[in-house]
Amino acid sequence: MAVYRGRYILQGLPEISDEMEKDLDLAYDICRHYHSSLPCRECGRCCHQKLITILPEEVDRISSAAGVPLGEFMSKYVGFSKDGRIMLLRTDPCAFLGKDKKCRIWEDRPEVCREFPYLVSTFMSRVYLAIANEDADILELIDYMDREWPCTNNIRETIVGKVEEARGIRAGRHLP
Ligand code: SF4
Ligand code: SF4
Repeated sequence: MAVYRGRYILQGLPEISDEMEKDLDLAYDICRHYHSSLPCRECGRCCHQKLITILPEEVDRISSAAGVPLGEFMSKYVGFSKDGRIMLLRTDPCAFLGKDKKCRIWEDRPEVCREFPYLVSTFMSRVYLAIANEDADILELIDYMDREWPCTNNIRETIVGKVEEARGIRAGRHLP
């Protein structure tokens, strides 16, 4: 397992060399581009996932944003994974999804919701693999993304060009 810049766990990748870090930087730029311009259509579908995790350090913030006392918040909204190590919001859909399909605690939503659709973790691993491996098909690699998520359409339409561009930069780096 590789950890990029001490923050992102990159699935299936070995430890990081200098060369690999440069390739990861290319992948990271692509991920940040999509993350900062994510065209959320407020369909609310991502809020129907069963495994919405929250971190212990987020509990106070989220319970106060929800206007629920901490004890009530923990008993009503929070569950744990089978091994007891991961905290999860219990409900499906999330209890904080409004009838208008907008998040009622948007400013204070959990980290996992901020990262959706996992553009700097799962997605970055795949973008890196496609940049570093000319035979890899980025569209196949991102097939895990649910086609019902409207915000991912833009990614499917433009990712091939972005990977090609990054491969060109990488090839230029290797010229004598
Ligand atoms: S699935 Fe995408 S478009 Fe729909 S609410 Fe979530 S982030 Fe927005
Ligand atoms: S906290 Fe907000 S963004 Fe996150 S799953 Fe719940 S409603 Fe959706």
